[in-house]
Amino acid sequence: MTDDIVSKLEDVVGARQINTGAGVRDFEFPWSTHQACLARAVVYPQSTAEVAEILRVCNAAGQSVVPFGGATNLVQGCATTADDIVLSLRKMNQIEEIDSGGRTLTAQAGVTMRHAQMAADDAGLFFPVDFGARDHCQLGGIVSTNAGGNKVIRYGMTRNSVLGLEAVLADGTIISSMNRYLKNNSGFDLKQLFVGSEGVLGIITRVVFRLGTKATSHNTALLACESFDDVVAVLGCARDAIPNTLTAFEVMWNEFYELAVEPLGRLAAPVQPGANYYVIIESMGVDEERDSSAFHALMESLAERQLFSDGTMAKSGRESEQIWQIRDEVEPVIGGAINFDVSLKSADIGDYVSRVDAAIHERFPDARVVGFGHLGDNNVHISVAIKDSEEQQALGVEEIVYNCLAAFDGAVSAEHGIGLAKRKWLPISRTAAEIDLMTRLKRMLDPKNILNPGKVVSPDSKPESPNGA
Ligand SMILES: Cc1cc2nc3c(=O)[nH]c(=O)nc-3n(C[C@H](O)[C@H](O)[C@H](O)COP(=O)(O)OP(=O)(O)OC[C@H]3O[C@@H](n4cnc5c(N)ncnc54)[C@H](O)[C@@H]3O)c2cc1C
Repeated sequence: MTDDIVSKLEDVVGARQINTGAGVRDFEFPWSTHQACLARAVVYPQSTAEVAEILRVCNAAGQSVVPFGGATNLVQGCATTADDIVLSLRKMNQIEEIDSGGRTLTAQAGVTMRHAQMAADDAGLFFPVDFGARDHCQLGGIVSTNAGGNKVIRYGMTRNSVLGLEAVLADGTIISSMNRYLKNNSGFDLKQLFVGSEGVLGIITRVVFRLGTKATSHNTALLACESFDDVVAVLGCARDAIPNTLTAFEVMWNEFYELAVEPLGRLAAPVQPGANYYVIIESMGVDEERDSSAFHALMESLAERQLFSDGTMAKSGRESEQIWQIRDEVEPVIGGAINFDVSLKSADIGDYVSRVDAAIHERFPDARVVGFGHLGDNNVHISVAIKDSEEQQALGVEEIVYNCLAAFDGAVSAEHGIGLAKRKWLPISRTAAEIDLMTRLKRMLDPKNILNPGKVVSPDSKPESPNGA
């Protein structure tokens, strides 16, 4: 490995845009789910041309490069070694254009989700992706993880909102697929190679997002339910009653709710803790009177059918925010825990979480198992905290969670991706032929394996059995 790589990179970006030594060690991660930053240097390009030149230099030297967006991912997707170069997109943070007529936002990859949401709002439009890490995660990061979030039930995953993008391949080739049209079948849809591929096939530098209509009506309710069957029934009723305005359907097990609200948590409790499940339902639309009346009718019918034991409807934007703050209060749950993000049939989720909970407690009696997630999207998160967790114990927890999942034909990653953390378990959800194709694509686009090595697949990946059989 050449020792002059840092000085070559300094020639590309200038000495002020590269950190070494303490500048690397002091790199701050916004969430406690990340290990310390180890790297030869952290480099901050400011343009696509600089990213391309960085990769040319690194590829020639066989130097590994780990792309960093907001570093909020939950799968060790940004894990580094002391030999890596970190390429941070933080300084590529310009919104280039909002086209109100075409309803698109074009931006550099380092723009944060919050910045994009606010810019769209200022233009009278709506940015369709949203979740708790919004202040830190970046457009490049959410595209490269194909993130989901709170509004998937209405707008789909990030992929559904990406019209075009620009990416740089390992050898420095710039692939500009900055399409702005809903329809464009002119050859392969190359952007899809980079959506959800977690930085192993190329570095995303610019993105074109499709924007939505800004809502003028918001209705939010928080309901307490006593059985999971009731939660599923509430989801079915909401889908039938407000099919065009239903924007979010979130579920929290009581353990989650208790950690978020008083007296255990720090937030005010709009509904008393102690029920088995808490559900947030949100509708957004453009006809205040009609939407509000449909939402009220839904609540009345749920009450008549006794599908919830307690509940509240937000009477103002502030009250709606207070409800959402509870769902966003994930740090006390996921910090220091082993976090899972799985997909399975919504109706099976309650049974699945109960089985996991029982099996974990049998082996780890002191464990804390917390469920929450995007029920309308078949997606549940489970956080398992074990005192003094060691690698072997973490593996034991993973075995329980994924072995239970296999019985439900579930997916090991609903929205967070594979990173390093779930690589071992990929064969539960993907066939050997699928993994082989991923491996061949990686080998073709990054033959020296310099891009985010070790994440998702490697050029020399062999289909492996998750249980080592
Ligand atoms: C509080 C909290 C709530 C969350 N809620 C959700 C949720 O509801 N739904 C959901 O899907 N996810 C959620 N996540 C996880 C989610 O994956 C990330 O927050 C987000 O998608 C990652 O964006 P980022 O900019 O932080 O990317 P990073 O964490 O920096 O990177 C993610 C991966 O992409 C790569 N990468 C980053 N930028 C680029 C780029 N420009 N080009 C190529 N590769 C790149 C990285 O190497 C890494 O492999 C949550 C995380 C937190 C902490």
